[in-house]
Amino acid sequence: MTTELDLSQTASDLADDLSVATSEDLSIVLGRWLGSFESALASASPEAVAELFVENGWWRDLLAFTWDLRSFSGRSAIADAVVRWPEGRKLTSFRLAPDIVPQLGQSESGAVTVESMIGFESPAGPGRGVVRLVNDGGVWRSWTLLTALQELNGHEESLTNWRSLAEPHYTNVEVGRVPWAANRASHAEFVDTDLPVLIVGAGQAGLTLSARLQRLGVRSLVIDRTDRLGNSWRNRYSNLQLHDTYWNNQLPYMPFPDTWPILSPKDKIADWLESYANHLDIPVWLGSEITAASYDPVGKEWTVQITRKGGDTRTLRPRYLVMATGMQNSPAIPDLAGRDDFGGEVYHSATFPGGPRFAGRTAVVVGSGNSAHDVAQDLYEQGADTTMIQRSSTWVMSTSEGLPLLNAGYGPDDSVEDADLWGASIPFPLSVRMSPGLAAHIATLDKELLDGLRSIGFRLNDEGPGRGVTKAGGFYFDQGASQLLIEKKVALVAGDVVGFTQNGVVLRDGTELAADLVVLATGYLNMREGIRELLGDEVADRCKPIWGLDEERGEIGSLWSDSGYPGLWTHGGNMAMSRTYSKYLALRLAAEEFGLSSS
Ligand SMILES: Cc1cc2nc3c(=O)[nH]c(=O)nc-3n(C[C@H](O)[C@H](O)[C@H](O)COP(=O)(O)OP(=O)(O)OC[C@H]3O[C@@H](n4cnc5c(N)ncnc54)[C@H](O)[C@@H]3O)c2cc1C
Repeated sequence: MTTELDLSQTASDLADDLSVATSEDLSIVLGRWLGSFESALASASPEAVAELFVENGWWRDLLAFTWDLRSFSGRSAIADAVVRWPEGRKLTSFRLAPDIVPQLGQSESGAVTVESMIGFESPAGPGRGVVRLVNDGGVWRSWTLLTALQELNGHEESLTNWRSLAEPHYTNVEVGRVPWAANRASHAEFVDTDLPVLIVGAGQAGLTLSARLQRLGVRSLVIDRTDRLGNSWRNRYSNLQLHDTYWNNQLPYMPFPDTWPILSPKDKIADWLESYANHLDIPVWLGSEITAASYDPVGKEWTVQITRKGGDTRTLRPRYLVMATGMQNSPAIPDLAGRDDFGGEVYHSATFPGGPRFAGRTAVVVGSGNSAHDVAQDLYEQGADTTMIQRSSTWVMSTSEGLPLLNAGYGPDDSVEDADLWGASIPFPLSVRMSPGLAAHIATLDKELLDGLRSIGFRLNDEGPGRGVTKAGGFYFDQGASQLLIEKKVALVAGDVVGFTQNGVVLRDGTELAADLVVLATGYLNMREGIRELLGDEVADRCKPIWGLDEERGEIGSLWSDSGYPGLWTHGGNMAMSRTYSKYLALRLAAEEFGLSSS
């Protein structure tokens, strides 16, 4: 695909008649653009590459071009990237993915897009991606392009179900054979064995990363301070069920059974994580914590002392230390005056158990995000007299109307891997920008619900799902609590809690509310605080912000990328993010380990 093309001719051919264009017509337009893109890259002309994008176009790269996660917005940023990553110019063999039919879509401005999944080759391995073209004044240019590395040449993922039945697995004699279970246990001990990657935290993030590294041939150990896998989910309030659907919560290599519910109760997910680690033979040390750690920048190696359940201490020397300790692990507890005077019980939502023992209580729930709503609903269902206190506005959508749109692309007939690529092809800053548009659409479907909330003085905002990226909170996917508020079965009070009295809480305006139970659904501290607690100020202060938008990289702050401190990496996010980005973090660590990356 290296021929020079008359792109303007192609645009006018199709422009008048997109609605009747066949998939062959779309393939021709897309194929020609890909040919021009490859030629422009090969010519090493930054301007020629940039010209193939609309003025405010986007190029997101996941390891293929930059060995990092990067999103470039606008022609000048794209041209700069071509200069800055000369190795990236070696991407070749761009083609339409043979298994995907090109389709029409819509850009941010409402223009019709011609889009498809693509394949290409990078020197490190095969890539896949997505391109969306728009007719830019008679010329087909890219509005978004995703280039994502998928495998490492020579280190392809090993999956044993590729084995042939003809292989001799049936009869084998092994003198002095170590039984399978004993072998697995000793394998997980890492005695006299090299350990490239140590992962702290055995939630979905730590486990998915370890599973992927294992398939790439890079050994890792996961440690967790709790004594049972899945406890981060298990210990949350009792009525919690996940807000994404069955398909979007899948973890790599081990799909849920067909009998699984669409929305997973948290205890089912907890048990699933336990099975996941067991079935995929992921080495995990439970009841284990780092008690000392230091990094040698010359030897590029950590010395980590770990105290294990029972008090044993081990010293390991991993080259990569990955913090997968959770974005929601350090509760943000406001410092409220009079706490010791209060005669009732106080919980943060992170430790609030929920359930029947709270029947008959007078409860105040501080906060108005997902946790606050779930806790308030649980208290109502258990027979508590409950009041929610709202300080700032919340984005609310119904699960019935909103979830199918937020989880679009993830369904019974969709490939999760392809859906992840389509999702990743809209860079985070763009998705945040487009978020109010999506929210406005969902709001028309949720009109009755939102009008009801307005009628009781509940403060709404229209930021949409992008709020999860910029603020990591402040939204509610309604699973019943909104109606309880509208019907005043749960009371709503607007205000800012500033302290406790002996019999309740007091708001900034002086209002006192009686309560014998207060649940602070006040969110979580940044993951960097967990790093500070574990590795000290010097390390934490050098770490870049985790989460939020990193303007320079056009990505979420430092997750799945360099932390800012050498040898230290971070991983996390919801189920879908843990699945999607564990792939790219595993590929990056494997590439570093095998000496393939240029970073
Ligand atoms: C109330 C609530 C509802 C949520 N609902 C959803 C939802 O519907 N869908 C969704 O996809 N996501 C949801 N999330 C977000 C996210 O998926 C979860 O927080 C999830 O648990 C994150 O997984 P993780 O592996 O990143 O971290 P965690 O599950 O928090 O796991 C981190 C692990 O690290 C361990 N750890 C922490 N510090 C140390 C240390 N110093 N040493 C050793 N071990 C340590 C912890 O014990 C824990 O096991 C929700 C979060 C909360 C709080």
